[in-house]
Amino acid sequence: SSIPKIVVLGAGYGGILTAQKLQKELNYNEADVTLVNRHDYHYFTTHLHMPAAGTDSIDHTRVQISKLIDEFKIDLVKSNVQEIRLYDKKVILEDGTLSYDYLIIALGGEPESFGIPGLAEHAMTIRSINSVRLIRQHIEYQFARYKMDENRKDRLNFVIGGAGFSGIEFVAELADRIPGLCKEYDVDPALVHIYNVEAAPTALPGFDPELVEYAMDVLKKKGVTFKIGTAIKECTPKGVILATDEEIKSATVIWTGGIRGNRLVDAAGFETMRGRVKIDEYLRAPGHENVFIIGDNSLMFNEEGRPYPPTAQIAMQQGVICAHNVVASIRNQQPKKFVFSNKGTVASLGKGEAIATVGTKKFKGWTAAQLKKLVDMRYLFIIGGIPLVLRKGRFF
Ligand code: FAD
Repeated sequence: SSIPKIVVLGAGYGGILTAQKLQKELNYNEADVTLVNRHDYHYFTTHLHMPAAGTDSIDHTRVQISKLIDEFKIDLVKSNVQEIRLYDKKVILEDGTLSYDYLIIALGGEPESFGIPGLAEHAMTIRSINSVRLIRQHIEYQFARYKMDENRKDRLNFVIGGAGFSGIEFVAELADRIPGLCKEYDVDPALVHIYNVEAAPTALPGFDPELVEYAMDVLKKKGVTFKIGTAIKECTPKGVILATDEEIKSATVIWTGGIRGNRLVDAAGFETMRGRVKIDEYLRAPGHENVFIIGDNSLMFNEEGRPYPPTAQIAMQQGVICAHNVVASIRNQQPKKFVFSNKGTVASLGKGEAIATVGTKKFKGWTAAQLKKLVDMRYLFIIGGIPLVLRKGRFF
């Protein structure tokens, strides 16, 4: 048929918003839309630190994609993308092939280990539902094992590499979880150590310094030991070796220190910087008018020429504009330029604690924690309306 085929790769923040907007904008029989994702659920990446630490359930962290889109309007394909073939406009899946007229790449990022030896092999990452289930089980198992051999005190040491957003948020949840674990496994809390190691000269680089100090105070009071300005030199089966040659023995290393674009994007032949493609103001890949790249795989610069950090917030906004521009192209209309509108940033610091900046305003403590809940609820509302807020929202 002559109906244009639109293929959306990835049903994360960018992909879901794109698919929903396409579904809304397109008229009957104006285009075929296919959404490909490796799972039949969409997960809230920004919430993964909680089930990873065991302070919230997996159920609160994901929703079936079929609940978010209209399957009469969008073909949902649960499969792994294996290759993007730009030259013949095809996507190779593990179990088939899709051809496209318009392609939207929203596959999200991957952990970046910066070539630190041993990290890819021995550290765990907060990346998906599967990876956080592993982290949660692994942590509980260390407590259980320790009770079988109390000489192995290293089982009660937990090393988190990276004190950026996800590192800090996870460390806070883990610190909140420890007292409960100690009680459950009859372990003296004084024996448990959480180390947060960061190579940059500050935690939460780029965040307001006063709020960073507040965050570190909150976490120190919860028992976290910071090693800031200290790179991890190597990760081994026994723990980590720091740039200072100090060794922290630990059976649990969780790496949050870097993220890069998806390797499929490199392999497709785009020019990339760590897997991210510098896209034009209409969100298109250079030289490919019919290929849009959004979210963690895209690279965009602000007025000062600095790249926007990869966030769910920008991925969502890009999804909406990208869908609009695909529809505009089908209708031979003018595309819209993408302009990022910063709604603010909130980092949670565990139960009842957070820091936030909204415009020039700063928030901390309980108020900021309420803002975090509001951000989460707003997202649930955008993608699933009131029913999803009621089913997945965390009100307390
Ligand atoms: P994703 O949301 O990662 O979605 C990619 C999708 O593609 C996934 O569903 C994945 O399963 C699928 N996929 C990947 N590879 C394949 C394949 N080969 N085949 C098929 N499907 C595939 N951002 C904020 O704005 N605010 C926050 O508070 C915040 N907190 C965070 C906390 C943590 C712990 C983490 C890890 C990240 C946080 N972020 C936050 C960043 C944010 O989660 C990402 O920037 C955002 O998820 C990027 O969206 P995306 O659409 O590019 O990709």
